[in-house]
Amino acid sequence: MSLKVYNSLTNKIEEFKTIKEKEVTMYVCGPTVYNYIHIGNARPVIFFDVFRRYLEFLGYKVTYASNITDVDDKIIAQAIKEHVSEKEIASKYAEAFFNDVKALNSKQCDFTPHATDYIPQMITFIQGLIDCGYAYEADGDVYFRVTKLNDYGVLSNQNTEQLESGARIKVNDKKENPLDFTLWKKTTEGIMWDSPFGKGRPGWHTECVCMIDDLFKGMIDVHGGGFDLKFPHHENEIAQSEALHHHKIANYYMHVGRVDLDGEKMSKSKGNVINIPFLQEKGLLEAYRFLICFSHYRVQVNFSLDLLEQFKRDLDKIKRSFKQASLELDLADVSSNEVVESDINSFISYMNDDFNTPNVLTLLLQITKDINVLLRSKDNTNLVLKVNTLKTIFDVFGLKLEYQKMNQETKQIYFDWNEARINKDFAKADLLRDKLVEKGVL
Ligand SMILES: [Zn+2]
Repeated sequence: MSLKVYNSLTNKIEEFKTIKEKEVTMYVCGPTVYNYIHIGNARPVIFFDVFRRYLEFLGYKVTYASNITDVDDKIIAQAIKEHVSEKEIASKYAEAFFNDVKALNSKQCDFTPHATDYIPQMITFIQGLIDCGYAYEADGDVYFRVTKLNDYGVLSNQNTEQLESGARIKVNDKKENPLDFTLWKKTTEGIMWDSPFGKGRPGWHTECVCMIDDLFKGMIDVHGGGFDLKFPHHENEIAQSEALHHHKIANYYMHVGRVDLDGEKMSKSKGNVINIPFLQEKGLLEAYRFLICFSHYRVQVNFSLDLLEQFKRDLDKIKRSFKQASLELDLADVSSNEVVESDINSFISYMNDDFNTPNVLTLLLQITKDINVLLRSKDNTNLVLKVNTLKTIFDVFGLKLEYQKMNQETKQIYFDWNEARINKDFAKADLLRDKLVEKGVL
């Protein structure tokens, strides 16, 4: 029962084999910090966090890097709009992004490289590509010479002719071929750096290649991001790396599906976006994480508040049973760290099958039903195992379940409340219930 993942590079589900035994290196392309992220941008932040947690659960040591793109035309434009420097724009939105990551309960990455800290490495890298004929200068810009590379299009599984006819490429007389992409961009306004090619800034595709190489000094196991990064971003990263380092950066490329809003693509320019603080204020952020966790990661999600409510109902159902069981167990002073092995084995087999999380949700709902049955039959011995199992699985998804602990006085009230309910003394039960609510138990 080994882990299998869909590799976008081969378009196949493959056995997950790491470069170093029981160690995983991964790099996920992070945001360009010119604005707040929307809930669609948050999907890779959630998925790759779960991926990391699951690998750790399996006993891997994971090194996870995700960058901040803090130089881009959009940042320059936003800086002009807000009358501040690019640095201020980038740090304002990077901070907002980190707050969102925290609010989503995704763990911090081990490395969050900022593109502007790697400019000298990028210049050296671009010079290297020019020196071996894979790049050329044209009026202060530097372009990658796509036709020199034999297997350009390996990730998008298309040859250069297909890509040329399919891609929406702006006419640019400076390029030898319309598919050639920018490594260095000559700029006359906003932030810029001196280089042997003239004043300008690096191209986005070059940033990640250089940061990955600088951090990991060679190939990594997993390169990930949103599905829209497959072409051109990751394709162009591979092209540069093949040209200079003779490898494809990573053995596995993993791409996460898009999140649409009410049937339409979310777009900051169109304004049909939902951001993280909006869901947070409505108390729906955990439900959103739950929705993303249990929608298959490669499938497009058509988000609506109705869909979120559906997932929230399942989440609430699970939480309610866990809480009640946890209180019962505390009352009976039953504790154990054991889990139900057959449930954990089912969980692992679904996860190992390219993250079949919809099946995991079905399993979680079954465990919840089991808990309810055990609560009714007062079978605390088995109840504690089921509760531990539920919590173990929730932890892997970064979803919180906390064991409820009561002091002696509260335990007595809780006990009396149960008694009153059994005896159908509703007036007394209501009174005791209010006390428990006041104490934050219910
Ligand atoms: Zn990238």
